[in-house]
Amino acid sequence: MVDTMMAEKTTAVKNTFSSELSQKVASLLESGEVQLVIGYEEGTKRPRPCFISEAADAGKLIFEERCTGNLAVYLTKKELIGDSKVVVTASYFALRSILRLLTENQVNLEKLVVLTISNEGQLIQFETTDDIAAFIKSAPVPVREDDQVLLQKLDAMTREERWEFWSEELSKCFKCYACRAACPMCYCTKCVVEENRPQWIQPWASTLANIEWHINRAMHMTGRCSDCGACGSACPLGLPVHLLSKKITEEVETSFGMNLNDTLRGGNALSTYKPEDKETFIK
Ligand code: SF4
Ligand code: SF4
Repeated sequence: MVDTMMAEKTTAVKNTFSSELSQKVASLLESGEVQLVIGYEEGTKRPRPCFISEAADAGKLIFEERCTGNLAVYLTKKELIGDSKVVVTASYFALRSILRLLTENQVNLEKLVVLTISNEGQLIQFETTDDIAAFIKSAPVPVREDDQVLLQKLDAMTREERWEFWSEELSKCFKCYACRAACPMCYCTKCVVEENRPQWIQPWASTLANIEWHINRAMHMTGRCSDCGACGSACPLGLPVHLLSKKITEEVETSFGMNLNDTLRGGNALSTYKPEDKETFIK
């Protein structure tokens, strides 16, 4: 009985929120203040991204706990955005990515309306970068249970066992680059893997070449990765590549005292040097 009442209350909150979101988006489109909305709609099995430019379509927008895909990935797609001012409905992790994209001058808040849902189910519109940063710091970090289980397993391994685990996993990679396409921080027009003068990374798929690619990618993500997990979810083979970035983020925090929420607004962790930095990683 209590469960049924809770479920009814949750549905009522969701419906109220959806209608508030639709009204907000419809009025922004009608007034001409924005030209494009990047949000979620109901898909066949789960919510999927949708792109709306007509106020009449605002009613199909949804935004709730199942909407976990990182929509920030679309914000650097010039072919999609053009010169439009855009509304984006951002999950917790998408907010982290937007914060980093703002830090790297890849998006501009004058051309962006960022909306999210608070823990209490309220619609929030951010006015400044500081507001986004403050929200991220105060909101609870969503937990992905599968990741926790695998991370504990990895932490319990010896260095040799971990190397074996990752060599085995990464040897399966066929370099489709779906992980790269899903990542908001992979926005370079030419990726280092396609560079052939000089050829930094072997382009074919082999265990060594795959390890080169994934170590390179994880290094590039240091202090930039939002821990959204989109790269791992996009992998058709289910390789948990997002955990490489996550472990590097943890390493940066424990070894260099750089908290993720701070590095998202600051200099690149990889190129930031302090005389007191530990050098225990040099063996
Ligand atoms: S590296 Fe993976 S987990 Fe990190 S921001 Fe990119 S898609 Fe998300
Ligand atoms: S999505 Fe998976 S298979 Fe494709 S490049 Fe990334 S790790 Fe390799």
